[in-house]
Amino acid sequence: MFVGEREIKELGVRCASRERGCPWTGTIGTLDTHLATCEYLLVTCPNKCEDDKDGGQTQLMRKDLEEHVQSRCLKRAFECPHCGEKGTYSSITVEHDKVCSNKMVACPTTTISYGKLTLPHPIVI
Ligand SMILES: [Zn+2]
Ligand SMILES: [Zn+2]
Ligand SMILES: [Zn+2]
Repeated sequence: MFVGEREIKELGVRCASRERGCPWTGTIGTLDTHLATCEYLLVTCPNKCEDDKDGGQTQLMRKDLEEHVQSRCLKRAFECPHCGEKGTYSSITVEHDKVCSNKMVACPTTTISYGKLTLPHPIVI
């Protein structure tokens, strides 16, 4: 039986991401359009972060990408909370954290009176 191109385009297909939960069904002719926006399609992180588990680039479903990039990605833009140094989350929390000069707690001072003079007196802790 010969099937013309037009019939093929109208064949019902399901999205290749259906095992990840994509409910989409349509025709081959509209599959490309769907894949351009499919929330369940695996995409790699735009920051090219690596997956701890298998060491490859992190792959995640498109619907999870935004949350990943904003709050989970180890390579998301991140500022040191102590000095404002800019870097990635992993470079700041792992490498920079060891050398951050502002991280050391400023020595608390108290005042002690010498007669009429009031001098700041550093406390050694
Ligand atoms: Zn889909
Ligand atoms: Zn990432
Ligand atoms: Zn810092």
